[in-house]
Amino acid sequence: MISRIDLRGSLPGDLRDVLPRADFDVEAALEKVRPICEDVHHRGAAAVRELTARFDGVDLETARVPAAALAAALGGLDPAVRAALEESIRRARLVHADQRRTDVTTRVVPGGTVTERWIPVERVGLYAPGGLAVYPSSVVMNVVPAQIAGVGSIALASPPQRDTGAPHPAILAACALLGVDEVYAVGGAQALAMFAYGTEDCAPVTMVTGPGNIYVAAAKRHLRGRVGIDSEAGPTEIAVLADATADPVHVAADLISQAEHDTLAGSVLVTDSLALADAVEEQLREQVARTKHAERVAAALGGRQSAIVLVSSIDDGLKVVNAYAAEHLEIQTADAAAVAARVVNAGAVFVGPHSPVSLGDYLAGSNHVLPTGGCACHSSGLSVQSFLRGVHVVEYSREALAEAAAHVCVLADAEDLPAHGAAVRARFDWEIPS
Ligand code: NAD
Repeated sequence: MISRIDLRGSLPGDLRDVLPRADFDVEAALEKVRPICEDVHHRGAAAVRELTARFDGVDLETARVPAAALAAALGGLDPAVRAALEESIRRARLVHADQRRTDVTTRVVPGGTVTERWIPVERVGLYAPGGLAVYPSSVVMNVVPAQIAGVGSIALASPPQRDTGAPHPAILAACALLGVDEVYAVGGAQALAMFAYGTEDCAPVTMVTGPGNIYVAAAKRHLRGRVGIDSEAGPTEIAVLADATADPVHVAADLISQAEHDTLAGSVLVTDSLALADAVEEQLREQVARTKHAERVAAALGGRQSAIVLVSSIDDGLKVVNAYAAEHLEIQTADAAAVAARVVNAGAVFVGPHSPVSLGDYLAGSNHVLPTGGCACHSSGLSVQSFLRGVHVVEYSREALAEAAAHVCVLADAEDLPAHGAAVRARFDWEIPS
């Protein structure tokens, strides 16, 4: 069901060589995605329609979802789902409101200031996946930080369902709850290309964000530069660092919860307890048989991206999880908070027995759009900051410039860029001491 990697004894020099990871070949997917993006670039809405027919089996009359469909989806939403979404939005807003940045002015010298102004991107295209599963929760996770950052224009795309030709009603209802009315029934690479280049139906955006499958990740890589992107958030991953105090029932349930996303999802247990490893494996057998998406889960747990990793100590376990840089990392050890404080690479950390990743997927208040594939060692999850640009605003008086002028001229000469110095001298003529 799940393979084992035994790292008891000494750890290898480069742990990344031995740790499990999905065969997620974005470069290979780029071969497919490039022509899709170019087609949308050159033929616009007609290309989007044809690609949607080919990949989603839907004959789109128009890509934009009418306002009435959004209102109807909200009207038809199960009240329990509505209440849960509203609570998810409320908690996400609480956490993301605290991420707001304030402009900071530094007085460098009397009369010379640098202000860092935080300016939101003007227009974003958000992606909510909708292939194997539908993710109204991803609508919340994309939209809340964008709105709190102050993005003026927000569009959202999600694949159309075969039966209705529109994104799943729960996606539409989540958009309606959040006040997003520009929604497109377009999925995959063609959605991101539509956002990046613009079509007759959709004005171009300056940034695209959101999770998705390999085609979405490849499209982001291809379009980066033309538009800004968040991280490449691919198939989900969970790593659990656990010792003998962890409950194997909980650990197995958490590993299964993320394996449910995708056959490429990665579930990794890192433990110094052989007894726990055996008990979790036993639990996986029992629980997978009972879970709804047993086939998908079994494929994910049996894939090369999932494993139980045995280590000699929790110290070694920390080295392993820091090298792995999981999208989601659970710490289920004695003194979990102290162990968690030593984590340096993870998209999000879930501490102790009562903080499962599923809570973070929906209702912790944290963001669930997180870097995967080891990108957590250099990238962050989606946040208010993702939608802001820090712009330095420089304002010096004549006196303050005069005080800096000689140094500017010396450095300009040292770089053999004398015109730089001349631009300063021009303001003073012979007044500057050289
Ligand atoms: P998706 O919306 O990402 O992809 C569906 C689209 O893929 C379709 O609309 C279609 O246009 C395109 N497509 C399908 N086959 C294609 C092909 N052969 N060539 C070109 N395009 C093709 O939905 P999904 O497939 O369910 O994937 C969602 C992914 O998002 C999962 O892997 C899940 O783990 C991940 N996810 C990640 C996070 C995160 O934060 N990292 C959060 C939620 C979901």
